[in-house]
Amino acid sequence: MKNAGCMLALILALGLGTGCQTAAEEDMVDLVLVNGKVWTGDAARPWAEAVAVRDGKIVAAGTAAELRTLSPSGAKLVDLGGSLVLPGFIDSHTHFLAGGFALKSIQLREAKSRGDFVARIAAKARELGPGRWIVNGDWDHQQFSPVELPRRDWVDAVTPDNPVCVNRLDGHMILANSAALKLAGVTRNTPVPPGGEIEMDPETGEPTGILKDTAMELVYAKIPEPSFAEKLEAAGASVRHAAENGVTSVHEMADASSFEVFQEMARLGRLTTRVHVYIPITEVELVARLKVKSPFGGPYLQLAGLKAFMDGSLGSATACFFEPYADDPKTSGLLHGQMYPEGIMERRILEADRAGLQLAVHAIGDRANSLLLDMYEKAVAANGPRDRRWRVEHAQHLRPADISRFGKLGLVAAVQPYHAIDDGRWAEQKIGPERVRTTYPFESLRRAGAVLAFGSDWTVAPLSPILGIYAAVTRRTLDGKNPGGWVPGEKVSVEEAVRAYTANGAWVEFAEGAKGTIEAGKLADLVVLDRDIFTIPAEEIVRAGVRMTILDGRIIYGKD
Ligand SMILES: [Zn+2]
Repeated sequence: MKNAGCMLALILALGLGTGCQTAAEEDMVDLVLVNGKVWTGDAARPWAEAVAVRDGKIVAAGTAAELRTLSPSGAKLVDLGGSLVLPGFIDSHTHFLAGGFALKSIQLREAKSRGDFVARIAAKARELGPGRWIVNGDWDHQQFSPVELPRRDWVDAVTPDNPVCVNRLDGHMILANSAALKLAGVTRNTPVPPGGEIEMDPETGEPTGILKDTAMELVYAKIPEPSFAEKLEAAGASVRHAAENGVTSVHEMADASSFEVFQEMARLGRLTTRVHVYIPITEVELVARLKVKSPFGGPYLQLAGLKAFMDGSLGSATACFFEPYADDPKTSGLLHGQMYPEGIMERRILEADRAGLQLAVHAIGDRANSLLLDMYEKAVAANGPRDRRWRVEHAQHLRPADISRFGKLGLVAAVQPYHAIDDGRWAEQKIGPERVRTTYPFESLRRAGAVLAFGSDWTVAPLSPILGIYAAVTRRTLDGKNPGGWVPGEKVSVEEAVRAYTANGAWVEFAEGAKGTIEAGKLADLVVLDRDIFTIPAEEIVRAGVRMTILDGRIIYGKD
C-alpha cells in the first residue's frame, strides 16, 4: 500500500499539509500504522488509533492528531482499515525447536480410531522407506472409541523395518513398536527406571509398547540425533509457524543443545522469533559455576533459567496427587525421575537460587504443586528476599489452600488455557468432581496475586494464541459439551487473557521495560488481527485470524 494514494490518505489522516514535511531528523519514522484499534496494554491509556515506528522501536502510539508532529516521508504506510493491533504475542511455554520437527513429522493428533492411527503410521513407513525411525506424532488415545492405549501389535505388521517411537501429545507416554523395543533392549525383564513405567500385558507379561516418563528414555536414547542442517530446517519451520500465529517471542523449554541452533539462526539473520531458553535443572552446577544470572543474552536469544519436573501428566495418569485417581484407584501418579534420589530437587532449587537463576518447574498434580511450593518457600526462607519471578509450569490441579500461596510467593502461574478445553473433556473421569473444581483455576490464581503467563505448550497443543485466548475466556471444551464453560468461575476476561499473552510474558522475562505493551521506546513487536476480539461474542474469538505480524518494526508475516 505504499503508493501515492496511500501517502495522501496518511497525510490527511495525520492532518498534515503537504507543505509541512520539515520535521526534524529525530522525528522521522519508518513505519506508520494508521486507522486501527490499538490495544496498548498501558493502563493509563489503553487504546490508540495509530502507531509510529523507527529503528525497530515504537516512537509513539496515539490518535492521528497526536502523531501529527512526526514526519511520515519515506515511511512505510499501513492503513489498518479498523483492524485490531496488539503487542506481539509472547508464548510463555513452548517446545519450539521440537515443534519445527513435529511440523515435518507424522501427524497423529487427528487420528480418531485405531484404524486411522495404524493407516497413518503405515503411510509414513512407505514414505520414509526401510530403516528410518518414525517419531513424534502427538497422538491422543482419548479420541479413540473405545478409549484405549495403542499397542505395538497394532503397528508391527505395517512397520517390520521401521522403528516406531511416537509420543502422546503431552509428551509423557510413547508407543514403541517391536523393532524399536528390540533396538532399545526392552523386554519383560527390563528394570523399570524410577519415575517411569513400562506397561506390561496382564496376560502375556510382555511389554505392550507403552513407556511412560523416564522409561521413555530407554527408547529415545536409540533414536539417531538429527543433523545440524536438519535442526536448522526445523527451526526455520518453527519461526515461520510463529510468525503466522502472531507470536513474536517464545519461552523455549529445551535441552541446552537448542542454543547452537538458534544462535546460528540469529547469525544468518533468520531468527524472526525472540527465543528465551530454559535449560534442564540438571545443568545447575554448570550454570552456577559460570556465574551467569537470569536472564542472560540479547533481545533475540537468552538463557532464561532452569526448567525442572516434579511429576508427569494427567492424560498419562502420571501427574502426582495426594489421593488416587478416580478411574484407577491403584495409583495416585508418579513423581518425576528428577525427584530422585530423594532431596535432590530441593538442593538444586537452593543452588539455583543462590546463583541468581530463574526457575520454571513443571507441576501438574496437587501433590506435585504442594511439594514445589514447599521447596520454593524454603529457598526464600534460606536465601532471603530477591526479585525471583519464579514460575510454576501448568499449575494444573491445586488444593484450594495452595492457590493463595502462589500470590504470597509472587509466583508466575505459567498456564496453558488450551489444555483446559482439551483435558476438560475427560478430566473429571480421572480425578472426580471435587478436585475438578480447582483445576486450571486461572481466575482464582490471578485473584490470589499470581502473575498469569499464558502459553501453548506447543507441540502438546496448537501454538495459536488466539485459540488460547478463546479457551481462557470461554472454557468451552472441545467436545462441545460445556457451552457455558467448564468450571465457568475460572474464566478470565479478554483483556486479562491478552495481557497474559503479552505484558505478563514480558514481565516473566524481566523485560517489562522493553516489550509486552505498545508504548514509546518499546520494541516494535506487533500483531494485527482481522477482528476486534474485545467486542465480538467470546465464542467467535476462535475465528479471528492473524492479518499481520511485525517484529522489530519489520513485517514478517502478512501483507500491508
Ligand atoms: Zn511443556
